[in-house]
Amino acid sequence: MKYLLTIVFCFLCMMHLSFSQQEKQTVIILGIDGLNVYRFEEAETPNFDFLKQNGSWTFEAQANEPLYSSPNWKSIITGSSPDVHKVLKNGFDKDVYLNDPGCESELEKLPTIFTMLKRKDANAKIGVFEHWGAFHKLIDKNNIDKYAKWRFGPKPSLNRAIKFYKNNDPDLVFIHLDHCDRAGHLYGHESAKYLTKVEKADELLGKLIKSIQAKDNFENTTLIVVADHGGKGKDHGHGTVEGMTVPLLVIGPAIKKNYEMKAGIKIQNVAIIAMKVLGVERHKCWTALGVDEIY
Ligand SMILES: [Zn+2]
Repeated sequence: MKYLLTIVFCFLCMMHLSFSQQEKQTVIILGIDGLNVYRFEEAETPNFDFLKQNGSWTFEAQANEPLYSSPNWKSIITGSSPDVHKVLKNGFDKDVYLNDPGCESELEKLPTIFTMLKRKDANAKIGVFEHWGAFHKLIDKNNIDKYAKWRFGPKPSLNRAIKFYKNNDPDLVFIHLDHCDRAGHLYGHESAKYLTKVEKADELLGKLIKSIQAKDNFENTTLIVVADHGGKGKDHGHGTVEGMTVPLLVIGPAIKKNYEMKAGIKIQNVAIIAMKVLGVERHKCWTALGVDEIY
């Protein structure tokens, strides 16, 4: 009888395990343009601290040269270095982004994480919320179910993304916040005003964390926070450690807690981390590798 009960118990455990493995997974990527890791030492950032304690993180992730925003965001969403995706500057000609990006030995354009997810599942729900005005030129909006742009403050972009996450059952949400980069260009990355923007980013991150806790408490949601570059003076800090080094934090059901990643992670690894959660194979032309140490 005891053996029978043990067998029944194990069977029920396996049922539960297989059920939880089938739960739909959501990935939210919070991209904070120009977020400088070197100001974290002075800033009050309780919500970044929460991610460090409950997830895997590094403050030594590496951006790519050329150290402009568009090439690096393109790297993050195509899992590739700029020499592969061919976006080498900031620009506002849509054709630059949609027609140039290539993939050696393949005629099709280098696909983004959004395209790859839709190819796997045409019903996958994707939202992109930007606070810049040029991010959308890096993506094919035909693959996006909900796109919203708000250029005058980061909060409305975040609020719209949270509303989309709450009211739908999305697979992938991408949020781009631009206020740190703007403050860096206006006042300098070493300024007191810039520091308040880092704390603003932390406050908005806290709002996002609360919305995830309210929905599924990270049972089925993975949150990735990343920047495209840091900065020095009133510029991105081309060729400097302050410019090239950025934060990357990941929290989710399959992610190690309180784990500092080894040095050498590239920001384009974000694409692989996101696709792994969603069960999407990395594209054969993507150059980024997975980050096995965080599981
Ligand atoms: Zn930028």
